[in-house]
Formats: sequence, C-alpha cells, structure tokens
Amino acid sequence: MFSKEEIIKILSSNDDSILKTADEIRKKYVGDTIHLRGLIEFSNYCNRTCYYCGLRCENKSIQRYRLSPEEIIETAQKGKELGLQTIVLQSGEDYYFSTDILCKIIEEIKKIDVAITLSIGEKSYKEYQQLKNAGADRYLLRIETTDKTLYNKLHPNMSYENRVECLYNLKSLGFETGTGCLVGLPNQTIESLANDVLFFKELNADMIGIGPFIPHPDTPLGNINVDINKNFELSVKVMALTRILLKDINIPATTAMETINPKGQTIALNSGANVIMPNITMEKYQTKYNIYPNKSNQILSKTKNKISLLGRTLSNTKGYRTDNKKNRK
Ligand code: SAM
Repeated sequence: MFSKEEIIKILSSNDDSILKTADEIRKKYVGDTIHLRGLIEFSNYCNRTCYYCGLRCENKSIQRYRLSPEEIIETAQKGKELGLQTIVLQSGEDYYFSTDILCKIIEEIKKIDVAITLSIGEKSYKEYQQLKNAGADRYLLRIETTDKTLYNKLHPNMSYENRVECLYNLKSLGFETGTGCLVGLPNQTIESLANDVLFFKELNADMIGIGPFIPHPDTPLGNINVDINKNFELSVKVMALTRILLKDINIPATTAMETINPKGQTIALNSGANVIMPNITMEKYQTKYNIYPNKSNQILSKTKNKISLLGRTLSNTKGYRTDNKKNRK
C-alpha cells in the first residue's frame, strides 16, 4: 500500500515504471481476459450544468435526443445477440426517464440474461433501491474529483457530500459500484489526484473509470489551455496506481484515453486496464452524445481485433469483480 506522499512522488516524477508493475498485477489478479460492456447512450438530455460537460443543459448548440424505452430494449437485445454479457445504460440526468420507466426497461432487459450497469447520475437512496430491486447489478458514478472546493466550483447546485453519500448508498444496496475521476481539470493538483486514488481504495470501489479532461468548446471550460497529452499520460499513471492499490477490480480503458491518443486504449490495457466498453447505440445518435469533441467511436468489431492483437482473450463471464478471482494466477 502506497502512502499519500509516495503516490504524489510517483505522479510527479517522469518515471513510468509503475505502468509495468500495474500490468503485472493485472495479469496476476484478473488474468488476460477482457470484459466487454455494451454501452447504450440512451439520452443526451441533462438537467445539470457541470462546467466541463457538453451535455450540460445550458449548452444550446447540442442537438438533443433520447431513445424510446422500446429502442433501448431492442438495442440491448442486439448487444446480447452480438455476444455481450453486460449492458451499460448511460445518459445525462434526464428526468423524462422516471424511476418507474427505468425499472420497466431494466426488468425487460434482465429477461435476456445480461448484467446491467447504470450510469445515470445522482438519485435518492429509495430510487437506487428501486433500480436494484428491478434487477440492475452495477452503477457507475464518478466522484470526478475529491477536491471539495474544485468539485463544488465545477458542479453548480450539486454538493460533494451528496456525491459521496450516493456512492456509499450504492455500495450498501449491493450494487457493484464504480467511480473514477477526471485528470487535468483546471486547478487540480497532484495532491488531489493522490486523494482520488486513496478515496477509491477507501470506498473499495469495484470498478474505476479514469479519463483525461478534454475541453468542450461549448462549455465554460472550453477556452482553457490544457496540455492534452500530459493529461493523457497522467491519467494512465493514476489508472496504474489504482490497479496497484485495488488489485482485483475492473478498470476500463476509457474512450477519453483513446480520443486523445490513437493508441490510448492499447496503452491502458498494458498498464492495468481489463475492460472495454464498445458503443452499441444506433449510429445516428453516437455523434450526438458529445460530452467532449471528437469522441472516439468504440466499434465492437475493432475492439475484438484490438484484443486479439494484444494476445488477450474475451471473457466468457458477465465480468463481476468476483469472476476475476477465477482468472487469478
Ligand atoms: N450523468 C451521468 C453521471 O453524471 O454520472 C453519466 C453521464 S456523464 C456525461 C459521464 C462522464 O463523462 C462523467 O462522469 C465525466 O467524467 C465524463 N465527462 C464529461 N465531460 C467530459 C470532458 N469534457 N472530458 C472528459 N470527460 C468528460
């Protein structure tokens, strides 16, 4: 276990030997198989105003869309036919989808025997409970940053404490719980990134998604001058440290990494990652889920090719954290 000081030292240095260490730990604890999660971005409507996100409700330039419940279910069925064993339902915080509607969608999708991950933002304990009872298995809610002041600045009308409470509620309800952070936000310090990694450990998160911050021109952070490549390298390091601290969890090679660097996912998969989330949303909507510009498109066929080129194999389980134990060497 690294101390906070050690994590800061690693993140501040040019030495990237931890990437190799993370790869070795990944191999030992979760093996060479890669879990695929079929991502359905079912609505880009959002009631929030997060400063970095292109879906924020104040962005009037974005063309909004939402899939109908039938379209969501059909897309999930197609994903199952393609061999996917987990369906991820992601959206902005779109209140059109009441908990009742969401529960009906979940119940219908569960009939095809897949794991369901939700990534639909903050809800009350009761709502999370209803979604769990309907059959949802996992939930992704990034903390984004553990720097409370920065968090509150970037998320008007939201609170850091509530975000943390949501994560502990999800854990206590038995969801496999995923969180994660953005790397390279303005005024984000190396110390706060170290705190992020320690927060993941403290929560004992089951999944961690880490992505470089990519400025979106139609947001308040659109004109911020950032070193995109530095953000990429730092995000890979934060991810590697996370693997070293939370050995058996599921860590995706994120789309944001691939967006910045054409080899981003391959680098991530060789530095601790063991999950890819190919996008199975209908093509006509994919470019509209514009959280940041030029979002890389994770096509299933290309993803499978990438996995075989790496000499890794496709998982034949639903890919729960506990499934990883069977691959342990
Ligand atoms: N509404 C849900 C939520 O808040 O968890 C899920 C959708 S949200 C668009 C998914 C993730 O996109 C966020 O957790 C955030 O980290 C990421 N994201 C948004 N804007 C981004 C940007 N400009 N650069 C990189 N990642 C971004």
